[in-house]
Amino acid sequence: MLAVVKTAKAPGVTLSQIPLPKAAKNEVLIKVKGASICGTDISIYDWTPWADGHIKNVPLVIGHEVVGEIIDINTSENTHLKKGDLVSSETHIFDNTCYQCLINNRHICEHMELFGIGRNGGFAEYATIPLRTTWKNTAKIPIEAMSAQEPLGNAVHVCEKANVAGKTVAVFGLGPVGLCAVAVAKAYGAKKVIGINRGEYRRNLAIKMGADEVYSELPKEYINKCEVVLEMSGNSEVIGQSLGAARIAGTIVFFGIPKKEAVIDIGKYFINKELTAKSVFGRKIWQTWYQTSDLLDEGKVDLSKIVTHKFKLEEFEKAMEIMKSGECGKIVLIP
Ligand SMILES: [Zn+2]
Ligand SMILES: [Zn+2]
Repeated sequence: MLAVVKTAKAPGVTLSQIPLPKAAKNEVLIKVKGASICGTDISIYDWTPWADGHIKNVPLVIGHEVVGEIIDINTSENTHLKKGDLVSSETHIFDNTCYQCLINNRHICEHMELFGIGRNGGFAEYATIPLRTTWKNTAKIPIEAMSAQEPLGNAVHVCEKANVAGKTVAVFGLGPVGLCAVAVAKAYGAKKVIGINRGEYRRNLAIKMGADEVYSELPKEYINKCEVVLEMSGNSEVIGQSLGAARIAGTIVFFGIPKKEAVIDIGKYFINKELTAKSVFGRKIWQTWYQTSDLLDEGKVDLSKIVTHKFKLEEFEKAMEIMKSGECGKIVLIP
């Protein structure tokens, strides 16, 4: 089968013909119908220090945001999954034995393995997923939008923690998860959502996703005026602006991971303003997926609007170029 493979611990990937994988015990084999490219895939492509720290073994089939049809199940256990089901993968493969797993925090498992990072992923014609991280899709939405449920799930988890209803919400950073956060904040009843992003292309997408106002930088009139700030940029130079936007006694939720250490004025923002800071890693398993699915089913969020490009697997390099330009929403690969 055709697959996008990281063959060496260096920049770049190779498009290779590799043997068809088999479902190991308690795994499903899927025929991949769509796979979306994530910021993490750019890190892996470029071989950043993050990739070097997280990827132990090559060759590796990359890609973790997938949707596909089950063509084989290898288990003797009870399962609600069956052949023909249209499923997605949860990237965070929990072990179900550690303290966090046992207290229902499986998304922050202490021994987490990552799909498409620590084991073969889904930029391929076929992929295997552990049964325990396989999500059965019920939402009646286009296949290409289905693969982007994972970033939407991140946004749902962020908005849940932020309590956005009735509030003025500033979203800093309008990458795919930031764009989803705009839509989810509106769906959850935010009074006003403003999006801040340097690039114009994604500001325009944010308007389509329901942002009331968009800016390249935070306007003065919004300093200290937003009850909720969603820090999705992961840009250490922007985080000061994000904290500045928060109203006294407001809430900031950090999601974007800064590439370098961010220096924060604790006195100015946290003590003087009594801000509440929260952070989000991934999606609650499976609570967030149910909430995400509800939003899609009820038509409250239209994920198709952020899927701006579709490519064949063979066109991976072209897709990567567009990803890096920032002139795109979600790019979906169709094997
Ligand atoms: Zn992702
Ligand atoms: Zn665990």
